[in-house]
Amino acid sequence: MIRTRIAPSPTGEDLHLGNLYTAYINYLWAKKNHGKFIVRIEDTDRQRLVPGAEEKILSTLKKFNIFYDEGPDVGGDFGPYRQSERLSLYKKYVLELIGKEAAYYCFCSKERLDEVRKKMTADKKIPRYDGHCRYLSKKEIDENLKKGTPYVIRLKVPKNKKIKVNDLIRGEIIFDSNNIDDQVLLKSDGYPTYHLAVVIDDYLMRISHVIRAEEWLSSTPKHILLYQAFDWPLPIFCHLPILRNPDRSKLSKRKNPVWASWYLQQGFLPEAVLNYLTLMGWSHPEQKEIFDFDELLKVFDIKDIQTVGPAFDPVKLEWINGEYIRKTQNSKLKSQILKYYQVYHKKNLQAELVEQTIPLIKERIKKFSDYSEYCQFFFERPAVQRLSLLKENHYINNIYQELEKITDWKTDVIGERMVRLAKKIGIKNSEIFMTLRLIITGKKISPPLNESMVILGKKECLERIKNLS
Ligand code: GLU
Repeated sequence: MIRTRIAPSPTGEDLHLGNLYTAYINYLWAKKNHGKFIVRIEDTDRQRLVPGAEEKILSTLKKFNIFYDEGPDVGGDFGPYRQSERLSLYKKYVLELIGKEAAYYCFCSKERLDEVRKKMTADKKIPRYDGHCRYLSKKEIDENLKKGTPYVIRLKVPKNKKIKVNDLIRGEIIFDSNNIDDQVLLKSDGYPTYHLAVVIDDYLMRISHVIRAEEWLSSTPKHILLYQAFDWPLPIFCHLPILRNPDRSKLSKRKNPVWASWYLQQGFLPEAVLNYLTLMGWSHPEQKEIFDFDELLKVFDIKDIQTVGPAFDPVKLEWINGEYIRKTQNSKLKSQILKYYQVYHKKNLQAELVEQTIPLIKERIKKFSDYSEYCQFFFERPAVQRLSLLKENHYINNIYQELEKITDWKTDVIGERMVRLAKKIGIKNSEIFMTLRLIITGKKISPPLNESMVILGKKECLERIKNLS
């Protein structure tokens, strides 16, 4: 049974885009293999915990239609799925490691550790624990425990050992144990560190594939040491490339929005965002850029992911999203736009008007927030000042009179009448239409004008001319 998981920490505002990518690949791999996809919340870093972050992460996953088979709010056979609810387990297993001499108590005070770090830094060494408590006698340990000296439990990293990580997409990577610090496994507050908890949980939750971001690769040898100490079989490891900005720097808040739900707020479609994310480090065998989930399930193989840091380019995402919009049937698009404005802008647009305007903008918008850029004027009169049209003032009344005379309010009739009028007063067609466009839509760029005027109706168009302030 293939079982994959993501293990987000609720330490940020929302699900990070990189985590969304990892989640999707895990989800995809589970689905492709008829397996299960699990969400486990890693909330053991109590200092960095952000209230509400867990709910936000889970709800964002669902908004992207990434549904998990097991997780903190849906349960499952291997729960609890929140690490803070599993503390007794970690304690039990870490004591087992002590029994096996694969871990040891460390009673060093913070002051001592600071000293050690300072000295090592001054000696131009990479600061790490100096192993002071590694060889304490049983008697010393017992005395300290009896006295209630605060302690942490550390991993006893063996010396001179080569640790082999077999990565599904990176192949074999060898680490030297001499470069690995005696990592803390259990903190003085009784909480496990990431390294201890991740190994115990991945094992107990029967995770077959640990698919996570590249930044965790350097932790993997520590995890392997733990698996070996427990005498547990290793899962398959797979470290996905880290997403980058188009300038190759690491995806960061300063350059690109990094929170997954920002993209939904902007009116990107979840399936378009996920489609684009799949293209990070992977390409379709026929080089297609747009494909649906069912097709992806057939052609995707995790082994084909490339490890070079792929660039996440919002402009490319806009293009893909625009293509999705164009593929969508008008009736569906209508409900999507209505829902988008309800959910993200607390606005109830008139359904009929949205329906009428869709053919005008379907080819133009790239995301739903563009819709109001183009179509706001259908729902609200633009504030246009006659003064800003000073030069054109002399013929605005002519436009009004000409339009008023029209009995058959149709696009071509409006067009012909305006062309005729332009000729009569001796101005270019483009000029008269620009003036009219500004009056009706408030903007220099708009959906096709005559069509828009037909949707608005004669009365409303005349009002807009009359009401110029
Ligand atoms: N808690 C880690 C994170 O925030 C999980 C890393 C892993 O998948 O092992 O991404």
